[in-house]
Amino acid sequence: MSEFSKTIVAVSTPVAAGGIGIIRISGSSAIEIAAKVFVPSSGKKVSEMKGYTAAHGYVAENGKKIDEAVLLVFKAPHSYTGEDVAEISCHGGVYIVGRVLRAVLAAGAEPAAPGEFTKRAFLNGKKDLTEAEAVMSMISAQGEQGASAAMTALEGALSKKIRAAAQTLITDSAYLAAWVDYPDDEIEEISTDKLLIDYNSVLAQLKQLLSTYDAGRAVTEGVDTVIVGKPNVGKSTLMNLLSGFDRSIVTDIAGTTRDVIEDTVRLGNVVLRLADTAGIRNTGNEVEKIGVDFAVGRLERAALVLAVFDLSRPFDEEDEKIINLCKNKRCVAVANKDDMDTRFDKDKLSIFDSVVYVSAKQGTGAQELAKAVEKALGTDGVDTSAALLANERQRLCCQRAVDCLTEAVNALQLGFTLDAVTVSTDAAVDELLALTGERAGDAVVSEIFSRFCVGK
Ligand code: GDP
Repeated sequence: MSEFSKTIVAVSTPVAAGGIGIIRISGSSAIEIAAKVFVPSSGKKVSEMKGYTAAHGYVAENGKKIDEAVLLVFKAPHSYTGEDVAEISCHGGVYIVGRVLRAVLAAGAEPAAPGEFTKRAFLNGKKDLTEAEAVMSMISAQGEQGASAAMTALEGALSKKIRAAAQTLITDSAYLAAWVDYPDDEIEEISTDKLLIDYNSVLAQLKQLLSTYDAGRAVTEGVDTVIVGKPNVGKSTLMNLLSGFDRSIVTDIAGTTRDVIEDTVRLGNVVLRLADTAGIRNTGNEVEKIGVDFAVGRLERAALVLAVFDLSRPFDEEDEKIINLCKNKRCVAVANKDDMDTRFDKDKLSIFDSVVYVSAKQGTGAQELAKAVEKALGTDGVDTSAALLANERQRLCCQRAVDCLTEAVNALQLGFTLDAVTVSTDAAVDELLALTGERAGDAVVSEIFSRFCVGK
């Protein structure tokens, strides 16, 4: 039996008490199975329902009513998956949704694997891979920018751009092939200049996509950020200011934040996955030492560092150590306690590209900090209504296409035969079509959809 001949079912809403819960059934027997468990109150038969129609009624098993519900029917190919789909909207209780699911399984459906509905949509040509991945991005979007970028991808902006690039290369290759294969047909020779113009224009577009990748990811996925500084500079207070509520323990006793406290906060147009670490200093206290080692490890892995300094105390060797740790990191220096008399040598911070003066306690300087963070991450120029590469898979395909195309350009300029050039452009086309999914391998496709949740 092919994978597709199974009719699958899953709960598509979260497992939690809510107004409604949706049980989605997809496959050639979807309507037949729905008819076994759903009784329309109109007396009409489920099998006679047209696509895009709804019926009120109840879910029943062995003649016993389970819940009042609404049935939605979609007929292939006009459905999310491209197959017949039935969706039962019942009351959203954890027990009742599970009960309806069991009734549908008993009626002959099989449990759906993670992402199987979207995978079927992909395999049935309803969505390409970038659009399917955008479904996942939309579900996991943490804010307006992430959702906006996912919507742009859902509408196919990236696919269109990639396909247009691939098409340019394919058209040139086809022309070249015709010219080589049919010398008698007086096909005009394509000039090296024209090929170079086309290849360089595609290269520029792909490079532009790659150049916005990091900033785009920062906006859509968030950035691992770490707050560091010697004890008592105000790291916890800053974290609380950014979080908007008291999360870290704030005390006057140096060394109270022993482990790493995490939170996700929005700062300007970026989501920061913040970690407030133990103050970094040399310590004899064992528990504190573990926290300090951990802080150094976190700092090394973080994509952004907020290095906090205390303006009310003189610069010392512990501050010096922080500065050294921040070398080669993307870093914003936060000069805190700006509300107090300054005893700190501000010139010591001139080593940082960006220094922001704040009073974490009084809540001043947060906007300036947001701007500095956006600038440091390059997210100030991100346009979420334009095509963006959404994940590492897409970035790799794009990067490999750029590499192949660069080879083609070099080969052309060195006067290689056109055969040698098209080997490289064909490889670039393969990468671009792998990106959209038109030529993606089974293993890649399975891996992508396995990261989805069940019911999507
Ligand atoms: P941490 O050890 O770096 O996490 O420092 P805390 O956030 O626990 O703060 C240490 C002390 O400095 C606390 O008493 C805070 O209230 C105080 N503090 C933090 N930020 C400011 C600030 O901007 N101005 C003033 N005046 N005090 C601050």
